[in-house]
Amino acid sequence: MDYKKILDEIYLEAKVYKGQGELARYIPELALVDPLKYGIHLSTVAGEDYSLGDSKERFSIQSISKVLSLAQVLPLLGETLWERIDVEPSGNPFNSIVQLEYENGIPRNPFLNAGALVMADILISRFDDPMESFLSFVRELSGNSTIEYDKKVAASEIATGYLNASLINMMKSYGNILNDVDKVLEFYCHQCSIAMSCEDLAHAFMAFADEGCLYKSDSRVLKKSQVKRINALMQTCGFYDEAGEFSYRVGLPGKSGVGGGIVAVHPKCYSIAVWSPKLNPKGNSVLGMKTLELLTTKTGTSIF
Ligand code: GLN
Repeated sequence: MDYKKILDEIYLEAKVYKGQGELARYIPELALVDPLKYGIHLSTVAGEDYSLGDSKERFSIQSISKVLSLAQVLPLLGETLWERIDVEPSGNPFNSIVQLEYENGIPRNPFLNAGALVMADILISRFDDPMESFLSFVRELSGNSTIEYDKKVAASEIATGYLNASLINMMKSYGNILNDVDKVLEFYCHQCSIAMSCEDLAHAFMAFADEGCLYKSDSRVLKKSQVKRINALMQTCGFYDEAGEFSYRVGLPGKSGVGGGIVAVHPKCYSIAVWSPKLNPKGNSVLGMKTLELLTTKTGTSIF
């Protein structure tokens, strides 16, 4: 497969969508990002790398971090994790609170804010320094020891995170949050703030593309059966109330973030990260979705 030629073609073709969409202004710090940034990085299981545009520039990974926290939590708790979080698509926005009351404080899936907040609570209970442990895990997955939290983005979200605080409070009233509400919000906003490039993300997500193995290494961080489950959740829940649309147009397990990043994997083949900060009304990058749709169409590499 000539990925270079195809990605060059896509980069030119997709550029026309650069103007569409809106920045995630509800987190004030994200409203300051240059809306015209556009980067792509594809890594193959065989160890090839293809980079275009702003692919080496770091941005806030936001909800993409939920896949990484699931990868840390699942091996710790195993199947008991699903006593506190379900594995069903919600058909609702990522920050919705409505269903949570009907379902007695059990989030529909780990990629909704509510689900990720429960995983944050679990990591806080498990580690003396959860922020350090999570960061080390992300650095290990990506093979980049310089990855950091973006303190400004984290502070900006903590200061305005009333809805996330409500989700934590509601779940605490149902006994599904064990730690202090402020501590959970602080940890969650830090995990979302992590700054990574498309290259870092494509390398980190190789663990999901390559059956749990780290990029260009023999070390295994996840079992095959755990990867199967994480990829299934990305496929069904990675794009919230647009999971069907992403499956339909792209046909790969993937995860988006309101920083404008999208990561997708083709198991045993490649991982790809795209960054373009302007979002559609569901909070997913317009250009990111278009890029991935063109990729699977031109290469014929959707999983379906
Ligand atoms: N930190 C963001 C929030 O809680 C993450 C949302 C997202 O990326 N979809 O709103």
